[in-house]
This record gives sequence, C-alpha cells and structure tokens, in this order.
Amino acid sequence: MVDICREKPKDAIQINAKKCRVVNLCMYITPTSTYFHNPHQKEEICKIVQEASTIWCDAEIVFNVNRIDELQHVRTDPPFEKLRAEDITCNADIGERLVNLFNTRPGCDDLTIAVYWIGGNAFQDGSTGCHHFSFSTPKEHLQHSIVLTDNANGKVFAHELGHALFVREKTPGDFFNDDPGPGTDPNDPIHNKNSDNLMNHIAGTQTTDDQRKVAKNSKLVVQEFCDVSFIPLFPKRFEVEILSMGVHEVDDGLDPDDDLELRWNFNINGTVLTWEHHQIEDGPVPYHIGVRTVVSVDKETDVITIGMSGVEFDEDENDALPTFSATFDKTTNWGTNIPTPPVVLSTSILENDEIKCEIFFKITSVASAEKAIPGFCQTALV
Ligand SMILES: [Zn+2]
Repeated sequence: MVDICREKPKDAIQINAKKCRVVNLCMYITPTSTYFHNPHQKEEICKIVQEASTIWCDAEIVFNVNRIDELQHVRTDPPFEKLRAEDITCNADIGERLVNLFNTRPGCDDLTIAVYWIGGNAFQDGSTGCHHFSFSTPKEHLQHSIVLTDNANGKVFAHELGHALFVREKTPGDFFNDDPGPGTDPNDPIHNKNSDNLMNHIAGTQTTDDQRKVAKNSKLVVQEFCDVSFIPLFPKRFEVEILSMGVHEVDDGLDPDDDLELRWNFNINGTVLTWEHHQIEDGPVPYHIGVRTVVSVDKETDVITIGMSGVEFDEDENDALPTFSATFDKTTNWGTNIPTPPVVLSTSILENDEIKCEIFFKITSVASAEKAIPGFCQTALV
C-alpha cells in the first residue's frame, strides 16, 4: 500500500522500490478531534507518525499510513460527534464502549491498525493514547484499534503501537501482549518499569532487544514494496572523455625530419587533465588520448566548459599550441544531444605554426547517485 506521509520528492525523475517490513495504518479523524477539518491535519499527523517511526526503526520496521479519513457525524452510541477523551477510561471495557467506532474502519483490513483521533486532552486516567485488540468474526485475525487524544504525541503513539506489536499467542488461540522486557512491571505486565523505556507508563524512547524482536515478528508486520530511494533531476553527472588527436601537419622549426614533443592540458570545469606525447608526426592514424573525468551539473543553468591549451617543448624553446574552448548547456543536454546521442565531438581543425590537428572528444551521461526517500527507515529493507 502507499504511504501518504512520505511524499515522492518533487525533483525525482525515478523512484526505486524495494521489499521492506511494513506495518500498515489507517487513520480516522472523528468530529471532535482538533485535526477534524484542520487544513494542516495531514502534515501534523504525519509528523507524529514520523516520531513514532523513528523510535520503531530500531526494530527494522516501517509504518505506512494508507489513509487519513474524516469520520462524519453518524448516529451511533456514543455518537462520533460527542466522543470526548475525558468521558472515556482506557481499560478492558473500551472495546464495548466504543464498539461502533472500532467497527468503523472502511478500507482497513485486519492486518492494518485502525487509529482513531478523538477530541479532548486525555482520558479519565490521564493517558493520551489507548490500544485495544479484539477478534474479528470469523475468528481469523485480531483487529487492532488505537485511540489517540488531541494531546497524543509521537512517543505516545509509538507506545500504543508497541502494545499492538506485542500481541502474540501464549497457547493456540490465547493471545496476550505483555511487555517482552527486561524490566517488565510485575504489577502491570504490559508496561515496563524503566522510565526511559518506550513501554513505561510515561512513554520513553528506548526499546530493548527483546521488545524489538517481538515487534519484528508481529503478525502485523507484512512484506511489501516500499519506495526507498530516488534519482533526483539534479545533480546530473556526465563523463567527458578526450578520445584522440588526428595530426595533419607538424613543424618543430628545427629539423628537416619534423616531429613534435607536446603536452596538452584539458581543462574540464576546472579539472585539468594532461596528456604528453613525444615524436608526434602527421599521418592517417590518430593518436589515442583517452583521458576522462566525470563532472557534476548541479542545476539547470550549470554548464560544462572544455578548454584546451598546450605546449610544444624541445631543446630550444617552448611554443604554445593552438587553443580551443567550448561550452555545453541545457539546450544540448550538456553536449550529449549533438545532434543525437551517441556522438563524437570535434574541435574542428586547430592550427598554428607548430601543428595542424583535430581533437576528438565525447560527453556521455552517467548514472546519478541515488538518494534515500526522506523519512523512510532504511533498516526495514528485507
Ligand atoms: Zn500503555
């Protein structure tokens, strides 16, 4: 299923999906909730989910929010528009008290946790989240519901998710959700005594190895393809390769049997590549050069500039070789679309008193680096 909290990056030109361990969530907002008809509901709820996800990422699972729906005013007992946390106690009776609410989970299967946002700061006992599980009919799966008040934060949500993820079978058909410990409170075995632990009454942020192991093995954890990384539009990467030099004439000004010792400097966006060769003569076979570098184009207005200069060196003196420069921009896809790829580019004839030559080069697009999708828990990859 999609995750509506992790939006595809706007500059993505390719999204890469991989198999990962997912716990699916459906979010339902009741009319009393501060998020009802709230233009920022998605952003605020997703922020809370992200906080909870960060805590549970240690267990190598990721939460996918499949939907955020508003529940309308319906005539149930109690009516959804009258649900206030202050009127409710988070205990075993909540399943009966809110049976109509918990049976309202459109588009949410039994392996998905239904999360209900209701109005009010806290339940009667002062807590801001409550987890409940019950059998579906027929008794194939458990159904999980979490109720959150206006004051529930990411830690509280992660704590309630913990109660759901810890549900397991003691004996066939007999389910329990005690804290896996260590540190389980003997007087309240679904909670942990350590104040920094997520499953403490006042939810901390730490989880234990045993807690993570039980959570990862929960039936609620399913394997699905998730969007994990993307290729952004920028930076783009291009390889510039100076291929070869064809020589038409040389003149070293010394001997009748002319040949040249020369050094070319190729400046590609500031990276200087050097190629030196001795006894250059004219002839039909071009000299292989084969120097290359990869340049990064970070934005649309960036260019690739190729500059060439060099010297002829002999016992006598150094003479400059002819120079060349060219700039490639977006209009030619930075030199890769002239006229259509793949193409060998040329300086055309370069000529001065020392040499008459032509240098061939090529610009090719290379794979851009993948970036992680923000907010995705990379350890959840299978
Ligand atoms: Zn609890």
